[in-house]
Amino acid sequence: MLGLMQDQPLLISSLIEFAERHNGDGEIVSRRVEGDIHRSDWRTIASRARQVANALDNEQLLFSDRIATLAWNGYRHLELYYGVSGSGRVLHTINPRLHPDQIAWIANHAEDQILCFDLSFLPLVQAVHAKCPTVRKWIALCDADKLPADSGIPNLVSYETWMGKLSDRYDWPRFDENSASSMCYTSGTTGNPKAALYSHRSTLLHAYAAALPDVMDLSARDSVLPVVPMFHVNAWGIPYSAALTGCKLVFPGPALDGKSVYDLIESEHVTFAAGVPTVWQMLLGHMQSQDLKFSTLNRTVIGGSACPPAMIDAFQQKYKVDVLHAWGMTEMSPLGTLCTLKNKHLALPPAQQTALRLKQGRAIFGVDMKIVDGDGHELPWNGQASGDLLVKGPWVVAEYFKGEGGDPLVPDAQGRGWFPTGDVATIDADGFLQITDRSKDVIKSGGEWISSIDIENIAVAHPAVAMAACIGVAHPKWDERPIVIVVKKPGAEVTRDELLAFYGNKTVAKWQVPDDVVFVEAIPLGATGKILKTRLREQLRDYKLPEC
Ligand code: ADP
Repeated sequence: MLGLMQDQPLLISSLIEFAERHNGDGEIVSRRVEGDIHRSDWRTIASRARQVANALDNEQLLFSDRIATLAWNGYRHLELYYGVSGSGRVLHTINPRLHPDQIAWIANHAEDQILCFDLSFLPLVQAVHAKCPTVRKWIALCDADKLPADSGIPNLVSYETWMGKLSDRYDWPRFDENSASSMCYTSGTTGNPKAALYSHRSTLLHAYAAALPDVMDLSARDSVLPVVPMFHVNAWGIPYSAALTGCKLVFPGPALDGKSVYDLIESEHVTFAAGVPTVWQMLLGHMQSQDLKFSTLNRTVIGGSACPPAMIDAFQQKYKVDVLHAWGMTEMSPLGTLCTLKNKHLALPPAQQTALRLKQGRAIFGVDMKIVDGDGHELPWNGQASGDLLVKGPWVVAEYFKGEGGDPLVPDAQGRGWFPTGDVATIDADGFLQITDRSKDVIKSGGEWISSIDIENIAVAHPAVAMAACIGVAHPKWDERPIVIVVKKPGAEVTRDELLAFYGNKTVAKWQVPDDVVFVEAIPLGATGKILKTRLREQLRDYKLPEC
C-alpha cells in the first residue's frame, strides 16, 4: 500500500519560490568585483532568476544542457544558481584557480554551451575561449557599460543586456527530482578531473540537512557569510540552505583578505561564516595585528582540510566564536560530518573539549560511514583503530559524469555500494570521526602509521610557524620517516632544533617526531587551498635525511 501524500518532486525552483514568498525582504549583500557593496533581497533574486530562465529559453537550449560559471560569490552568481537549475539546465561551476588548460579541458568535457564570468577572469577567458568550441555565448557578469571593448572574445555580451529587459514572469517547469541540477569537477591532483553530477533531489536533501541544529543551525535570524566559494561544491550548499531558512546572505566577492572579510563581518552583522583554514588564518592574522574583536559572529564552520588546534583555540577562547569542524568532499555535495558536542561533553574541561573539536565530528543523518582494514573488514568504533573510510547516502556520488573512472563504489555483503573516500580515519564510541590522513599521504614507519595531520598540527601550534606540511621520505631501516616542511611567519624566528624540541612537549610518541625540518618560502597549494603534497614531494626529490 502506498502512502496517500502529495507527490511533489524536490526541485531547486521550490527553494527560491519559498524564499520569495516567505522571506522576500531577506537581504542579499555582495561586495562586487568593482569593490562597491551591492544590496538585493530574496524577492529581487527570485525575479531576476526568472529573467535568467527566460534568457536561457531564448537560447534554444535543451533540458540538461550545461551552463558554466567562472565567478566569485555574488548576487548574479546566485541568480544563475536558481535560473539555470530551476529551468532544467545544469549549472557547471568552474574553479578559476585551476590551470587554464585544465579549465578548457573541463569546459570541453562538460560540453558547456554558455559560460558566464566575472570581469576579473577576463584574461583567463581570453586565454581559453578559442579552445572551447562548444561554448556559443560568453556572458560577462556586468552592466552593459562595463563590457570591455575589443576583448577578442566572439559572442560576448553583458549579463544585464542578456537578461535585464526580459520578462520576470516564468513558470518553473516540473520534472523528475533525480534530474541533474549542477556539477563540480574534483581538482584532479592525479589524472584528469572527474565531475560529481548533483541532482535536484540530492541538493534539496543536503540543503535540509545542512540547516539542522547540529550542522550549521541556520535560521531567518542569521546573517551568513560563505567565504567558501560558490565555484567549488556550491559553497558547501549554503546558497540553497539559505533560501530554505530565509537567512541574510553576505557575499565577499573577490576580497578574501583578512581586513576585507573582517570589515564585512562587522558591517553586515554576520553571525555565521564558513571557510577553509587558510582563509581564516588571514582573518585571525589581521585581527591579532589590529587587536580587534567580533561583535556579532557567534559560530563558524571550518573544513576542507584539517583545522589546526591553535585556530580552534583562538576562535573559541579569544574571540568566543564556536568552531564547527567539518569534513566532506566534492563527491558528497560536500557535507559528511560536523563536529558539535553532545550534552554529556559540555561539562568537560576546555582542553578535552578542544580535543573533541579537533575531530571532524559526527555523521549527518543521510550519511552512513564505516572504516575498514586492508581486506575490507569493518573496524571497531573505539577511537584507536584506523582504516579506510567509506560512505554512502543520497547526496554521495554513485558514479562520475560520463562514467569516467568506471564504477567507483565498493559493494558490501548486502550488495549496497559504498564510496571509498581515500581518507584514513578513526571513529570513536560516540561516533566522532577523526581523519588522520589521505590514504596516499599516510607515512608508514617500521610498519606503524604516522598521521601527517598530527605532525602538521603540532608545527602550526608553534608561534613562529605560518604553515606546515608533513611528508614521508624513504629510509633504509624504517621504510619511511616523516619530515616537516615549514613556512615561517614574517619576521618570526625558529630553528630546526627548537621546532623538533617543541614536539617533545606534545602528546606524540618519540618515534613519531619528524626526523628533520625543512624551511621553505612557500608551500604549494592546489585550486581549493589544500597543500599539494605531490608537488612538494617533487620539489624535495633530491632531499636526503640527515642520518642517511
Ligand atoms: P578536491 O577539491 O581536492 O577535489 P575536495 O574539496 O572534495 O577535493 O576535498 C575532499 C578532501 O579534503 C577529503 O577527502 C579530505 O581528505 C579533505 N578534507 C576535507 N575536510 C577535511 C577536514 N576537516 N579535515 C581533514 N581533511 C579534510
